[in-house]
Amino acid sequence: MLRRTKIVATLGPASLPPATLRAMMRAGMDVARLNTSHGTLESHREAVRLVREAAKEVGRPVAVLLDLAGPKIRTGENAGGRSLELKAGATVRVTAEPVAGTEERFTISYERLVEDVEAGERILLDDGRIELRVLDRDGDDLVCEVVAGGVLPARRGVHFPETALTAPALTDRDREAMAMAVAECVDYVAVSFVQDAADIEAARAAIAALGGDIPIVAKIERKVAVERLDEIVAVADGVMVARGDLGVELPPEEVPVQQRRIIAAAAREMVPVITATQMLESMIESPRPTRAEASDVANATWEFSDAVMLSGETAIGKYPVAAVTMMDRIIRQAEAVAGPAPEGTGHGEHDDHSYVVAVAARRIVESDPNMRGIACFTRSGYSALLMSKVHPDAPIFGVTHAEAVYRRLALARGVVPILSRAVTTTDELLRVLDEALLGGRFVEEGDEVVVVASLPVRAQGTTNFLKLHRVGDAAAYQW
Ligand code: PGA
Ligand code: MN
Repeated sequence: MLRRTKIVATLGPASLPPATLRAMMRAGMDVARLNTSHGTLESHREAVRLVREAAKEVGRPVAVLLDLAGPKIRTGENAGGRSLELKAGATVRVTAEPVAGTEERFTISYERLVEDVEAGERILLDDGRIELRVLDRDGDDLVCEVVAGGVLPARRGVHFPETALTAPALTDRDREAMAMAVAECVDYVAVSFVQDAADIEAARAAIAALGGDIPIVAKIERKVAVERLDEIVAVADGVMVARGDLGVELPPEEVPVQQRRIIAAAAREMVPVITATQMLESMIESPRPTRAEASDVANATWEFSDAVMLSGETAIGKYPVAAVTMMDRIIRQAEAVAGPAPEGTGHGEHDDHSYVVAVAARRIVESDPNMRGIACFTRSGYSALLMSKVHPDAPIFGVTHAEAVYRRLALARGVVPILSRAVTTTDELLRVLDEALLGGRFVEEGDEVVVVASLPVRAQGTTNFLKLHRVGDAAAYQW
């Protein structure tokens, strides 16, 4: 049985030995995520090559997603290398200046701290454990009241849930990483701490200036991004429900609510959506997940995430292969009991022929039990992505001659990417399809499929072609 929901696994020291990488692919990893918050650019370049090699050996389409660290803001070093004891009710000064931190004054590594943060706004330290409220500006400092106290070690993460930060979403380091991504033909780039649509446009322009064209995944992890969700999803090529940072800026009870909203927005815009962070967190240390984690993965599947993601579980965990295997098993069980999915909500906003053809293909497959699936001949991947968002139960064979599209489709729910020969004429289309489907043993001669495509084959157009096809019959066509 086909698994529809895809698995994104973050790579790190635990998963980079080639034998582990191959085992993870055999266990079901569809997308390899490289997180530039850790490691060096060179280590990531090497990782891309290792993934490509392993995927070739295993014979599976595996996409590489390069996740840009973005402007991660941290506290500074503390005097004497100790931890600070911040007491509720106390007054403390924070500054962008590099100082040896004390209970009276410490550094927050954000250049425009004093300019951007207003009195009354909150500053969250160390995953929200410690909360400050800004009282006043004073020269290079912000004077704050400690609202929730605690012990603060050096270099902890900082969040500004109420502040619109004016620093660009792309750092110099991100730009270097993008150059690597273009040079190594990375399949997706994820942008962290996105605030608005302009952040995505800026990333797209930066990649274009490097001569690349890579789909961009917007990580929704700031409160401001949640508020501007629609404008962000409208320009992104994919979204991530980045629950780690999102759960710091928002109270925990809002995370599942926003997860639903983000998945719905992705359905409307017909872009892939990844549900991420802490999905099988306990497997970093343990060979089995908690019951709550198993439920989380199943629920993300039932909510129609295109993919679910492993982070520390596979990057630094003790059981990287078991984590992928476990995720695969949970998804399969969940999908086996899920009823028919809604057809999608994109109609009206995507009111060209493509959507109508996709819905028709799904209905034909559903009404004829002999149909094995939907064979989607696609140059850009668009038809297959659209088909995926219509949620047929049957497999979507995403047949393409473009290797980059073949890999990118690994992220799309329900799509089985298949690499084919190039097609230059309509005559050839069915023959090449038959060859591709039979060659990979996805179907057998005589099986019925619905074929959808965009004709003429040389042009980039709407999905305007639908045919009921018996695999192996292509030779009979002499159009
Ligand atoms: P990160 O993003 O792992 O890069 O922080 C994911 C998240 O915040 O959930
Ligand atoms: Mn994050």
